[in-house]
Amino acid sequence: APVIELRRAGLTYPGPPPVTAFRPCDLVVRRGEFVSVVGPSGAGKSTFLNIVGLLDAPTEGSYLLDGFDTAALRDTERTALRGQRIGFVFQAFHLLPRRTAAENVALALVYRHVPRAERARLAREALVGVGLGHRVDALPTRLSGGERQRVAIARALVGSPSLLLCDEPTGNLDTATAGSILDLLDELHAGGMTVVVITHDSAVAARAGRTLTIRDGVMSEQVPA
Ligand code: ADP
Ligand code: ADP
Repeated sequence: APVIELRRAGLTYPGPPPVTAFRPCDLVVRRGEFVSVVGPSGAGKSTFLNIVGLLDAPTEGSYLLDGFDTAALRDTERTALRGQRIGFVFQAFHLLPRRTAAENVALALVYRHVPRAERARLAREALVGVGLGHRVDALPTRLSGGERQRVAIARALVGSPSLLLCDEPTGNLDTATAGSILDLLDELHAGGMTVVVITHDSAVAARAGRTLTIRDGVMSEQVPA
């Protein structure tokens, strides 16, 4: 089954006045794809992220994640599925400042009922995987922006999600550091991870095998000739 399948899925905020932020759309993203989503401010990118990330249910149509129809889920079930299947990476890292890199990563497993010792082991492994094996005990304040984003990526990956969902992952980074984070996303993709990156940076979009555009709530795709 595809990782993401939208079937005429759309979202209208109730208002008043109602705002159709994402117009009904069909979309299939298969396992191992690297997809970028671009569009101007206010176009509906966050709304798309909220749907695909199981933060908001579409108000029309359906969203299947790994072939599982999420339409009928209750909020608690949606939250649980989100925790199991989706790893989020944000522009602003969102690390807990008084926790070490390893603790920040391990915290992502608390809600998955993984025993403490196992959490610590998996967190170290995830940090090694993003090139931070030597920084596991560092506090975020002692890390560079690029290192902080690597910790955030390790945290997103530690639970073995189906989908890595990134929102402007290089927005807070200088060009060279951004490039190294994009190299890491490329590596994860090469390893089979499904990656969706929301961005307004064309350099970021250029890394993806496939680019979706949103304008005025309408998602479209230029199919390469
Ligand atoms: P983008 O992420 O591309 O900047 P958004 O998805 O945040 O775009 O917004 C798409 C449209 O939906 C915008 O017109 C925005 O004002 C509107 N919108 C976003 N969130 C809400 C909300 N909670 N209630 C009403 N309108 C919203
Ligand atoms: P300690 O290990 O001393 O409890 P923490 O940093 O874990 O230190 O937590 C201190 C308090 O600040 C806690 O209530 C925690 O929830 C809160 N906190 C820490 N970091 C953040 C953050 N990035 N965002 C929101 N709250 C935070």
